[in-house]
Amino acid sequence: MSRDQESQPDTGSPAGWPSNQAPEDSISDRRAAWQARYAESDALAGIEVDENFEPFNQRDDMFARAFWDESIRSDATFAFFKGHQGSGYPRRAAGFTQKDIALRNASWSISDLVSARSASEGKREGFQAPIEVASRVAKTKIEIGDTQAFTHEIKNLAKLFGADLVGITDYDERWIYKSRIDIRGFKDVPHNLPEGMTHVIVMGHSMDHDLVQTYPSALAGAATGREYSHETAIVIQLVSYIRNLGFEAVGSMNDTGLVIPFAVKAGLGEYGRNQMVITPEYGPRVRFSKIFTNLPLKIDIPKRLGITEYCNECTVCADACPPKALPFRAPEAGPVNRSNIRGVRKWTANCEKCFGYWVKIGTDCAICMRVCPFNRPYKGWTDRLFFKLATSRFRGLARLWDKKSGRGERVKPGSWWSRLAAPDFWR
Ligand code: SF4
Ligand code: SF4
Repeated sequence: MSRDQESQPDTGSPAGWPSNQAPEDSISDRRAAWQARYAESDALAGIEVDENFEPFNQRDDMFARAFWDESIRSDATFAFFKGHQGSGYPRRAAGFTQKDIALRNASWSISDLVSARSASEGKREGFQAPIEVASRVAKTKIEIGDTQAFTHEIKNLAKLFGADLVGITDYDERWIYKSRIDIRGFKDVPHNLPEGMTHVIVMGHSMDHDLVQTYPSALAGAATGREYSHETAIVIQLVSYIRNLGFEAVGSMNDTGLVIPFAVKAGLGEYGRNQMVITPEYGPRVRFSKIFTNLPLKIDIPKRLGITEYCNECTVCADACPPKALPFRAPEAGPVNRSNIRGVRKWTANCEKCFGYWVKIGTDCAICMRVCPFNRPYKGWTDRLFFKLATSRFRGLARLWDKKSGRGERVKPGSWWSRLAAPDFWR
């Protein structure tokens, strides 16, 4: 599934351009301004935007289309979402039993609580609207002093709250969705982001390696749900802290804007063929959240790690994808269908095929994460050595090593449960 939730542009009048864009400016004026402002940092990040670029309209992502688009919406898509509530629809197949589904749905429960609480106002917090916090922005701002030291402080506090990775980048309106969706009818409404956002704090949340090894299964979905629940809590805590310092902060998961370009720009990793940000610390096994703020912070410089070069010669994820939703070709600009962004040259998935597979199996799939050679526990020196080799000119050796190792094989859900019953599971 497209984790950056893209779209083809809606050529109609946008209901809510971000507040720092003048709606009267034509798209070509905005493209020229973006080119002048971001060309240099895009090049550093490996982001290639062309003259057809338009920001994303979230109503075109698969999770929104599943509710309003008759070509996607069906009894099966309804059952897919319904199955993530309560005890779901267990079956006898290993990885889809009542215990597996109970664990997956429990792992989502904190995220679900928060995302559902403003439904009567048309908001699905964290997915189709920012996450709200009780704290208002304090009337007085603290003195920041040394910006570099303060940036370290904020990053370390994010980790104190539970983030695994933190990077800072500029607020970049290209990646902000054209509008927010009101879920009471899936209509476009303005974001109403506060004026003057300058920075984005991007946080990475690592998924449990052993659970990921059991994809595809409902059990593996616990790795995803657990991080959404973690993200929700971490975002709320850090947003509350920033607001209590007297600065604006808006907490976001999948809502409001794409996260992948922000994560790449914040230096957290590099974009891979499997549509994920591949990080040196966890490979592709990371989910991202973001906080829009006007805090004065030092931005991180994007890093070219050598992952693009590896992906250029590897198709392990595309080969393993059951519905063949991932591209085998070189990066291209242009949408595969309306759920892809236009005007960004990159590897692009067929999200309709991907989501169709999720609906068919009744749970999320991340086989393309599991099989990726960069998906490793990174607890021992061999994984670090692999990363070094794979991102060097000796990547051919790394590919051979990975192929022979059996590392990406699926772990049977039953064997995960057997290990869980042992007293030393967490050692
Ligand atoms: S492997 Fe699964 S998650 Fe990845 S693109 Fe294919 S269907 Fe989607
Ligand atoms: S499996 Fe190979 S091609 Fe796919 S993202 Fe991982 S390294 Fe890149």
